[in-house]
Amino acid sequence: MGKLTGRTALVTGASRGIGRAIALRFAAEGADVAINYTSNEAAAQEVAQAVAEAGRRAVVFRADVGDRAACESMCEGAIDAFGEVNILVNNAGLGSAAINRPHIADATDEQWNRLLNVNLWGPIYLCRALVPHMRNAERSDIVMISSIAAQALNPGFGVYSVSKAALEAMAHTLAREEKAHGMRVNMIAPGLVDTDMGRRILRATGGPDDIDKVAANMPFGFVCTADDIAATAMHLCSEDGRYITNQRITISGD
Ligand code: NAP
Repeated sequence: MGKLTGRTALVTGASRGIGRAIALRFAAEGADVAINYTSNEAAAQEVAQAVAEAGRRAVVFRADVGDRAACESMCEGAIDAFGEVNILVNNAGLGSAAINRPHIADATDEQWNRLLNVNLWGPIYLCRALVPHMRNAERSDIVMISSIAAQALNPGFGVYSVSKAALEAMAHTLAREEKAHGMRVNMIAPGLVDTDMGRRILRATGGPDDIDKVAANMPFGFVCTADDIAATAMHLCSEDGRYITNQRITISGD
C-alpha cells in the first residue's frame, strides 16, 4: 500500500520541474494523477508514461491556468477521468524573469496581468472549480507552491512577490473556510530550486549558467532539488500530514 493509495491528484505545471517531481512522487505512492502543462506536450506525455509505468492512471491536460474556461474544462475532465479529484497542487507559475523583472513603478498592466493571471488567478479558478467537488471527499488536500519571494520582497521581484503573497493570503483564508469539510490547505515556499525556472532566476541575477557552480555557497553545500519539494508535498497530503493545515513550509535551507 502506498501512502496515497486511493487518492486522485491534479498537479498543475506537471510537465517539468517541481510539478513533474510531485506527479511522479504521488504516483509512486499510489495516486492517480492528472498532469497539466501549457506548451511542452512531449514532456507532459513522458510524465504520463512514467505514472502509467508506476501502475497508476494518468491523464494529460493542456490548459493555460490563467484562462478560466480552460481551468474549468480541465477540472471537469479530471473528475470525469477519475470519478473524484481529492488533491489539488497549484504549482504552475511564472517567475519575474518571464516579464524582465520590472520595478513596481515601471511594470506595465501587461506585465502585472501576465504574472497575476498564472500565479494568482490560476489557483483561484482551480479552487473555484474544484473545492465544491472536493468538499464531498472524506479528506482532500490543496497544496500551493509559493516562494520565499512572498516575504523576501527584493527589487525587481515585486510583481512576482505580490502574486505569491496574494496566493498565500488566499490559501490561509481557504484553509480556515474549508476545514469543516475535511480539507487541508498548505503552502510550500521554496528558495532556489534546480529547475528551468531556478536556472533562469540565477542567470537573471548575474549568476552562472551552470547552477552546480553555486552549490558550494548554498546551505548544506547543494542546491535544493524538485524532489526535495515533492517529499514535503507528499508528507502533507499523506496520513502523516493529516493534522497539518493552514501552514506555510519554507524549504530554503535557511
Ligand atoms: P519550471 O521549471 O519553469 O516549470 C514550469 C511548469 O509550469 C512547466 O510544467 C510549465 O509547462 C508549467 N506552466 C507554465 N506556465 C503555465 C501556465 N500558464 N499554465 C499551465 N502550466 C504552466 O518551474 P518550477 O521551477 O518547477 O516552478 C514551479 C513552481 O515553483 C512555480 O510556481 C514557481 O513560482 C515556484 N518556485 C520555483 C522556484 C525555483 O527556484 N525553481 C523557487 C520558488 C518557487 P510547459 O512545460 O508546458 O511549459
